[in-house]
Amino acid sequence: MNRNRSEALLSRALKVIPGGVNSPVRAFRAVGGTPPFLVRGEGSRIYDADGNEYIDYVCSWGPLLLGHRHPVIIEALREALERGTSFGAPTEWEVELAEEIRDAFPSMEMVRLVNSGTEATMSALRLARGYTRRTLVVKFEGCYHGHVDSLLVKAGSGVATLGLPDTAGVPEEFASTTMALPYNSIEALEQAFAARGNQIAAVILEPVAGNMGCVPPRAGFLEAARALTVKYGALLIFDEVMTGFRVARGGAQQLYGIRPDLTTLGKIIGGGLPAGAYGGRADIMSMVAPSGPVYQAGTLSGNPLAVAAGLAMLRYIRNHPELYTQLEQRSAALCAATSQGVTVNRVGSMFTVFFTPHGVTDYEMAKRSDTAAFREFFHWMLDRGIYFPPSQFEAGFVSTAHTEADIKRTAEMAAEFFEQKTRF
Ligand SMILES: *Cc1c(COP(=O)(O)O)cnc(C)c1O
Repeated sequence: MNRNRSEALLSRALKVIPGGVNSPVRAFRAVGGTPPFLVRGEGSRIYDADGNEYIDYVCSWGPLLLGHRHPVIIEALREALERGTSFGAPTEWEVELAEEIRDAFPSMEMVRLVNSGTEATMSALRLARGYTRRTLVVKFEGCYHGHVDSLLVKAGSGVATLGLPDTAGVPEEFASTTMALPYNSIEALEQAFAARGNQIAAVILEPVAGNMGCVPPRAGFLEAARALTVKYGALLIFDEVMTGFRVARGGAQQLYGIRPDLTTLGKIIGGGLPAGAYGGRADIMSMVAPSGPVYQAGTLSGNPLAVAAGLAMLRYIRNHPELYTQLEQRSAALCAATSQGVTVNRVGSMFTVFFTPHGVTDYEMAKRSDTAAFREFFHWMLDRGIYFPPSQFEAGFVSTAHTEADIKRTAEMAAEFFEQKTRF
């Protein structure tokens, strides 16, 4: 597969953009080689600058539940463009999007729109601290909540990929306001509350982890987080930036039947444009300015293009509930291509093939994966036109645009790889 133009673009990019990319994982550091520079997407396919075609299982890291350029979203964007690109003033469409979100997530009685998942989690934490008048936040190792200063402690995603224990530029004073516990450990959470329960403002978690690769919650874990936060007067924040509208229309909170106090959303709710949201109990959300003292603002928040794309996406999802059945079936068929030496974790259309036979329920176990084997697998698939996330510690996604033929071809390629590599 020829990647000459991507290589030329990468050397130009390296001179003007750190690492040549605008978000670290895109640089392929974990797998080596040149990332394809993309020029177009259509349905389940992406195309690079050299004219190569790939079946895309990254889906822009989650937002593209309906695949690339779904007609419903493109049409909504066309209409929105006719009205204007930004107003910085309230619009009816923002109200509709907030209502659409609340309809899917009844726990989000009130909603504030922002521009990214990072902004959503950052704002939700400020609100939780303002509401409880406490400082400490509990997070879980391997969970990623955006590049919020105090949350870049034992974070997953790009931080895990680069093997950074933490990040430069975050003062210890910020990091020390966060406690990081092992994911899925009810005991660790009980101990943390027993030791510092009256200082804990909130517990934030990915109800299905996606940023250390896909790791589902163990039975009872989310229930324990709910019960302990209630008992100690802390807030429970579900970071559903990835899982919202992905694992079910109402996210992981619908799937597992847990009602958090606050929820953060992003990715799918922007329909492929930049958008995020946080929301929850009305008494808590009423603390947000201008109705309350917790300040949070945004020049482009509720941007009409992002709102139009998001609204088209969420309405389509509401009108096509059967799409989750299709996603489940296709994803299950895809993940059937496995091998003795690997662990496949999947919840709905989120999945990861971990190169370890030992099962993965937390970050320590994810880190035991054979990343060299993953690298080989990744390039084997890429060279055959199949684009998986370029890191062992990222989830892949199936969209409604993935056809049975796409899935079959992908599963066959994976099976061929596993057969050749007798050591797996
Ligand atoms: C992607 C992600 C974020 C960050 O969202 P951005 O839009 O990249 O800032 C936060 N939390 C989770 C769970 C995510 O998957």
